[in-house]
This record gives sequence, C-alpha cells and structure tokens, in this order.
Amino acid sequence: MAEKKERGHITIDRKLCKGCYLCISVCPKEVIFISNRLNQQGYYPVEFKENEKNGRKCIACSMCATICPDIAIEVFRE
Ligand code: SF4
Ligand code: SF4
Repeated sequence: MAEKKERGHITIDRKLCKGCYLCISVCPKEVIFISNRLNQQGYYPVEFKENEKNGRKCIACSMCATICPDIAIEVFRE
C-alpha cells in the first residue's frame, strides 16, 4: 500500500521573527528563506517559499515551528 504523503504550508509572523534562522537550519525541505525586507524590529525575517522547480514541498513536519523561540511560525496540514 502506498504511503500517503503529508503536505502542508506554514505562515510566519514577520513582526515576531527575530532572524535567528533556526527554522531554516531544521527544515528538511529547504522551503524557508531569508527575506530581503526588514521588519518593524529591524530584523530580516524569514519567508516561506516552495520551490516548484526542484519539487521540494512542505511536509507539515512542524520542526520549524517547534524550534522557533518566538512562536512566529504556524503549520497547516493539507
Ligand atoms: S526560528 Fe522563528 S525567530 Fe528564528 S528565524 Fe525562524 S521564524 Fe524567525
Ligand atoms: S513544516 Fe517542516 S517541511 Fe514545512 S516548512 Fe516547517 S520544517 Fe519545513
């Protein structure tokens, strides 16, 4: 029986993100990137971007949200 693949996406609260980039370091799918726009606190927050070209997709593993010290990430399963 084929295993059902989890799919999901995340939202990132730009105002809460302090730019520690721990989420980037743990994401197994490499779909979190550093924004080139500063937030209100003067940090470069992260943003979620799926990369259609190489097929990487969020699997809703929640590792990013778990490691975020500022509770800036919310994970949604699809
Ligand atoms: S772990 Fe949280 S605070 Fe750190 S870069 Fe990611 S979203 Fe921002
Ligand atoms: S839920 Fe998992 S795959 Fe999706 S962005 Fe977070 S760490 Fe990456």
